Amino acid sequence: MTTMSVEIPEAARTFLTAAAQSILVGAERMPSVGGETIPTFDPATGALLANIAAGGQADVDRAVDTAHQAFVQWRQLSPAARGRVLQDIADAIEEHAEELAILETLDNGKPLTESTYLDVSLSAQIWRYFGGWTTKLGGLTLPVSPAVGEALVYTRREPLGVVGAIVPWNFPLMIGSWKVAPALAAGNTAVLKPSEFTSLSALRLAEIALEAGLPPGVLNVVTGLGPDAGQALIDHPGVAKISFTGSTATGRRIVTASAGSLKKLTLELGGKSANIVFPDADVEAAAQGALNGIFLNQGQVCCAGSRLFVHRDVHDEVVAALEAEAGEILLGHGLDEETQMGPLVSARQLDRVAGYVEAGVREGATLVCGGERPGGALADGHFLKPTVFTDVRDEMSIATEEIFGPVLSVLTFDDESEAVRRANSSEYGLAAGVWTNDLKRAHRVAHALEAGTVWVNMYNMIDPAAPFGGYKSSGYGRDLGEESLLGYTQTKSVWIGMD
Ligand code: NAD
Repeated sequence: MTTMSVEIPEAARTFLTAAAQSILVGAERMPSVGGETIPTFDPATGALLANIAAGGQADVDRAVDTAHQAFVQWRQLSPAARGRVLQDIADAIEEHAEELAILETLDNGKPLTESTYLDVSLSAQIWRYFGGWTTKLGGLTLPVSPAVGEALVYTRREPLGVVGAIVPWNFPLMIGSWKVAPALAAGNTAVLKPSEFTSLSALRLAEIALEAGLPPGVLNVVTGLGPDAGQALIDHPGVAKISFTGSTATGRRIVTASAGSLKKLTLELGGKSANIVFPDADVEAAAQGALNGIFLNQGQVCCAGSRLFVHRDVHDEVVAALEAEAGEILLGHGLDEETQMGPLVSARQLDRVAGYVEAGVREGATLVCGGERPGGALADGHFLKPTVFTDVRDEMSIATEEIFGPVLSVLTFDDESEAVRRANSSEYGLAAGVWTNDLKRAHRVAHALEAGTVWVNMYNMIDPAAPFGGYKSSGYGRDLGEESLLGYTQTKSVWIGMD
């Protein structure tokens, strides 16, 4: 187990000191109108990291007004010019990669290698990808058959206006980017509300975007609590769309709250993804994929492969590999270069996950490894050892509910149709994994699974071009890819009389 060994750079220290001014409206950082703050902690040590502004209704009003003013010019900028700004932001993220990765690790706890090579790197790629779309977002000419005379009909993809983006704490920079970049590419302006647990990288991103040439007011950030700043954004009549990632419970609340205004919604919600290992798979690769599928980001991943279905014939081999490898994962401060797994994001999240470990034992599953907190130098952080349960039955809470922590439930199956049926028996449908060397089975099972993403012989892969989102209670709409871009537009049909 490791402790912190990387020095926090001066730039990040200065940024943290001024974090109470974490509302960014136009080109200005400011405290909340009410002057209140929320503490944010280093989850690896429990130490106070910074105080951020606790924004509310008045702050959201100011941000939305400013975004409306900026919309007038931003939507009229030529597609090439808009695309250039987004690509310059991608470059600037790469130039500030170290600082952004350190902030993300300090705030969220994840290992620096993950912040660097996943969160920050993918964020830059996302801005670059959507920057490339601005010049390709065209309409159609349509072969209409009017009853009288002739007409030319074409469609335009027009922006919606001001988009409210509400994001969770597990991938703050990346999920913020994958909502804001396509919204801006399509000509909208945005107000971003990060999670109260991890607001720092969103704020720094917006500053970096301004420095890279984004006109003031196009991207605004309001930090604060969900029921205050988040609710004010949902209720604001000037917000045309809410793009939300977070829990299914909050998603449901947003649907209800937006019914009056009929705001457009994209909802990326929870998951309980099945990862299925068939007996013809490369078992070693499958075990490795299962570990990556559950322990990345301490298991705080919406698409985590938290239900591992293993065919009875290879069950013992897979479990032996999981037990051996999970026990070797090095826990520590995310800023230590040797750390492979950091702490959970908060004491509340640790309690929640520990509650599921207790429930698993109580309901009769076998605890193969983990389930306890490390002591020593890590005792003050929100750490939990990588945990594997076997003998899990479908109806147990650890097999049905989203744990959002480093807890893997292993279930056994005997044939393909049974595996598919049980995998699909969840209320969620965000993602799934399939491990097999049988080509026909790979496609057959991928098609049969009720999930927005299916990975075959790989897991947890994300790319700006590949749509990501859920079936069933995992939400609707898609982030990433062309589909997400279209979700930030509305279609207008223009009819020209030709007679
Ligand atoms: P959460 O729902 O508690 O919070 C998400 C965001 O919503 C935060 O910014 C929060 O401040 C805000 N919020 C909370 N209550 C609100 C309210 N009443 N009105 C408006 N905004 C409100 O979720 P979390 O704990 O931050 O994140 C974990 C959850 O996110 C998990 O369920 C996970 O599966 C989900 N998630 C989903 C995806 C996906 O792509 N499907 C990705 C990451 C996380």
